[in-house]
Amino acid sequence: MTDSLHPFTDGLARGQLRYQQCEDCGAPQTLSRLACTACGSQRLAWREASGRGTVLAASVVSRAPSDAFRPLVPYTLVLVELAEGPRVVGHALPGTGIGDRVQAGTFAHERRNLLRFAPAA
Ligand SMILES: [Zn+2]
Repeated sequence: MTDSLHPFTDGLARGQLRYQQCEDCGAPQTLSRLACTACGSQRLAWREASGRGTVLAASVVSRAPSDAFRPLVPYTLVLVELAEGPRVVGHALPGTGIGDRVQAGTFAHERRNLLRFAPAA
């Protein structure tokens, strides 16, 4: 596994899905922030998510954005709202659709772990 400098990809390398939460007001953050989107605090901590969530949007990618992703096409990408509140984009099993309840997992690709959602048990 290559060295990672980012807590999110570092978490995926360990099979964990991480998100930021404000230590002052508790607001979960979508994407990686320097300051809380709710109160502006810079006291943001990384937490491990349960991995449970609901699909808000889904699309099938048939044209790879780079050579690295060409072997994977066609693949499904989903926007998921996690149980903890933040939203995250990841791969999903074919046929995953809006409103589906899903569970996060990872798969190895090009020596990295990528996020992939499967139907929740
Ligand atoms: Zn805050």
